[in-house]
Amino acid sequence: MDGVDRFQAGDVEVICLVDGAKVFGAEVFPSLTEETRAARLAAAGLTEAATEFNSYLLRHPGGIDLVDAGCGTLFGDGAGFLPERLAALGLRPGDIDRLILTHLHGDHVGGALTQDSGLAYPQAEVLMHRAEAAHWQGRDAPGGRFLSLTEPTLIEDGADLGQGITLWHLPGHTPGHSGLRIGDLALVTDIVHSEALQLPDPACGPTFDVDGALAAETRAMALACVAAEGLVWSGAHILGPGKFHRLARDGDGFARAPL
Ligand SMILES: [Zn+2]
Repeated sequence: MDGVDRFQAGDVEVICLVDGAKVFGAEVFPSLTEETRAARLAAAGLTEAATEFNSYLLRHPGGIDLVDAGCGTLFGDGAGFLPERLAALGLRPGDIDRLILTHLHGDHVGGALTQDSGLAYPQAEVLMHRAEAAHWQGRDAPGGRFLSLTEPTLIEDGADLGQGITLWHLPGHTPGHSGLRIGDLALVTDIVHSEALQLPDPACGPTFDVDGALAAETRAMALACVAAEGLVWSGAHILGPGKFHRLARDGDGFARAPL
């Protein structure tokens, strides 16, 4: 894995940057029996529920956006490589014009904080869904600490971020959890944490979903939309190699389809 994969969406060059990787234990998907879990992993050619932490760089005539900041130091030695990925592209933190945070879980906002609890991208305008800021404000969590340092621009579902980029509110995983639509590309963020376990059965959710029922409804809706509209999609936890795919109906669920 070289940690970089690209897709051109209109005027926006979308570059997926892998911040790190880990494995989800069986306890993360408690609705699955061991037998079902093993069968789905085997069908995907996996022995464990591997995941990667994906951020995205958007390069366009309006500037440079970073979508999520990775784990920083919160997830140990297996993650926190985003600054190296940016440096490999010749970019420094000061080159990022906007930091778009899809939600404030630690693997998305951890890298927005420096080791001594400062801002890793102090010059960037910060954008997030209004409900996400409301959810984390004042909490003793990375999201709360980040909000205590910055005044984000609060946006709503469908917000026009320029260059054909719009916010896609996908609530349930967290209240303000959002993806982005960029032309025929959909970045669906955390609606899927394990394609192997969840695409065949969109009702299957991880313990990380704040509102499991709403998250399952949102997951089914968003995946159906991607498949029906023939969109290209990527998400914050999909495995490489190859981070951009299409999606097809497959029985009661969905399956990756080639680009
Ligand atoms: Zn999350």
